[in-house]
Amino acid sequence: EAEAADADRWVRGTCRFCGVGCRVELGLKGDRPVAIRGVPESKTNLGYVCMKGMLFYKLMLHPDRLKKPLYRARKSESFREISWEEALDIAAKKFAQAVREHGPNSVAYYGSGQALTEETYLFQKIFRAGLRTNNVEGNPRLCMASAVGGYITSFGADEPIGSYADIEKAFCFFIIGSNMAEAHPVLFRRIMRRKLDHPEDVKVINADPRISPTSRIADIHLQFRPGTDLALLNAMAYVIIEEGLYDEDFIRQYATFRVGKKKKEVDFDTYRRFLADYTPERASQICGGNITPDKIRQVARWFATSRGTMSLWTMGINQRIRGVWANNLIHNLHILTGQLCKPGADSFSLTGQPNACGGVREAGGLCHILPAHRPVVKDHLRHEVERLWGVPKGRIPKKPGYHTIAMFTALNEGKIKAIWINCTSPAQSLPNCDKYRKGLAREDVFIIVSDIFPTKTTEFANLILPTAFHFEKTGVFGCTERRSQLTVKVLDPPGEAKPEVWIAREWALKLAQELGDPVIKKCVEPFLGLDEGYDLPKAIWDEYTQKLTAGRDNDLRGATYEVLKKRPDGVQWPAPTEELALRGGTYKKFVRGIDPLAEEHAKDNKPYQFYGPAHPDRKLWIWLRPYKGAAEEPDSEYPFFLSTGRVIDHWHTASMTGRIIELMRANPYAYVEINPKDAKRLGIRPGDMVLVESRRGHNILPAKIYEGPMEGMVFVYWYDQHEDRLINKVTKDAFDPGSKEPEFKICACRIRRVSGP
Ligand code: SF4
Repeated sequence: EAEAADADRWVRGTCRFCGVGCRVELGLKGDRPVAIRGVPESKTNLGYVCMKGMLFYKLMLHPDRLKKPLYRARKSESFREISWEEALDIAAKKFAQAVREHGPNSVAYYGSGQALTEETYLFQKIFRAGLRTNNVEGNPRLCMASAVGGYITSFGADEPIGSYADIEKAFCFFIIGSNMAEAHPVLFRRIMRRKLDHPEDVKVINADPRISPTSRIADIHLQFRPGTDLALLNAMAYVIIEEGLYDEDFIRQYATFRVGKKKKEVDFDTYRRFLADYTPERASQICGGNITPDKIRQVARWFATSRGTMSLWTMGINQRIRGVWANNLIHNLHILTGQLCKPGADSFSLTGQPNACGGVREAGGLCHILPAHRPVVKDHLRHEVERLWGVPKGRIPKKPGYHTIAMFTALNEGKIKAIWINCTSPAQSLPNCDKYRKGLAREDVFIIVSDIFPTKTTEFANLILPTAFHFEKTGVFGCTERRSQLTVKVLDPPGEAKPEVWIAREWALKLAQELGDPVIKKCVEPFLGLDEGYDLPKAIWDEYTQKLTAGRDNDLRGATYEVLKKRPDGVQWPAPTEELALRGGTYKKFVRGIDPLAEEHAKDNKPYQFYGPAHPDRKLWIWLRPYKGAAEEPDSEYPFFLSTGRVIDHWHTASMTGRIIELMRANPYAYVEINPKDAKRLGIRPGDMVLVESRRGHNILPAKIYEGPMEGMVFVYWYDQHEDRLINKVTKDAFDPGSKEPEFKICACRIRRVSGP
């Protein structure tokens, strides 16, 4: 507060951390950042910010900031400072050499949901059309690829239908596989407010194998064996049908039933027979924990009969070997009950990062998707993008590139010779990370890391490029609710740090020279000579929105920089016209009858018509998905489930929050949570050092004894960078066959006390 009082001006922007996308203002005293504050009238956060958001200004002047390009020819050598000219020459030569000697698929880009949309868009354009590879991938594969797969297979189109504004209209919250209270704290506060204001009318159901801070406001907490929620969700559908709680009209008009890889259509009776395997009695046996048939019946009734049910989930559902199926089963419940297109009803997946949706999911940051949700394998869409970019037909390869685990496996196998890692730290964030560090450590793999701070991954780099931070560059973040928000540069980056769009453009020009390929230059030609502080990102945004999103489901033509500057709360797509964008965009996509304008969304319960699904039959698909357990279940050798997650004070790998003293004081290190019954049986006391070991690696962590994890399960936070406490050495890298998202959330481990406190 004292520092906030020092501010002599406030500039608007968004928070740099989680996917909530809180609107904030940065307080400046001269050119010194001194505070962050919320904006009461903001649509995303209603003026609130969490501790992470409130303190991120401290990172801007942090002494650890990377300020000059650093280079070493061999990974065993020390880094030396070099000029940008030399850095870009080396980067171009190394990538060109790899392409010449090993072909286009020997190079790769690995990006981030924390990068601005303009950055992801430009990098993927250069790699796909310039270097002719779809090896464009990003860390959102690790957190929300299963949600993408779920939306596409159930609704025919990615991203939620509704908005945060549904929270204030909902009467039942079904929070499953999400510790919102810590991972999305400001959004959770809105749910708490709703519950406190209407304690009798509003029901909160929390389904999670661990009792978390989110569970504290729940009317019912469903605690089940990790990985058995597919049975639970099918059992809820069973009750909804058995008790006649489904919306027959909605199903008749808008739904079909599908099964198997061939998406075969089946009828309602087949679905009903399929669900006969998931009676509440049988599901309660599969799920264990505190699940009883009565509890399943109760939550199914609340879900189906409330005046508006909102499901919310994140990694507990997505980071699974059957993450797409789990997503489908949540959507099934909404389609069955018509809890979808009215105010307060939505099947709403929460996103982890500030721009996983806007940048990576929408602007082409995953190996199989071109900008504006175009699958790369579809010839007409690929050729459309080539035409819009003005590059020769056939320039973009048809075959998708490597997904995340495949990309780092290719590094291990020496198939990738040069990789650019931007704004993320796979050396810490990959599951079973020691396995993939071997590829990062290879001397024949040239690694560029562009970031604001040293990380576990810069330890493996040949070339480290210092980048500008938030408020030191201009660009758009797209948060969980289809909302694009603009942050404009107000400060210069420290030292010689540069915005990624400048780095990518200058590198592409040198690369074009090295390879003698004019098409690479053509990729950046529209952006030549523009100032990187504003004009360059604006031109990239204009190309993306005006050309690439035109007529697509995420049509953002109305959301120009000029409009976004007038709308500090941003714009929700679709927003094809400036008129609509100036009024906030679309509150509920795919729905007629609810006013699409965010400003007027509060008009309740008008008759509606659903028109959106992109499936060929124009219907929503209810999937028959059987229960399947985790890739690795406990056994006699490794008898515990291990699950991992977030803590409120830290963000991802803590490369940023770990440098904020107040947050480190609150949570200085990770520990292992153990159920008191297990602790007693194994003679483990609070503070004892405990070995947590899987088939892949081990940690040694202090014990916290508490009832959070159910018996037979332990839980560890994953932010800690200390090698002894880096839990991704222990997690498993099995992944969902559809979404390719790894199963971070479940593996088998054993635990043993190794010493006292
Ligand atoms: Fe930032 Fe998320 Fe906290 Fe909002 S809830 S202030 S977006 S970290």
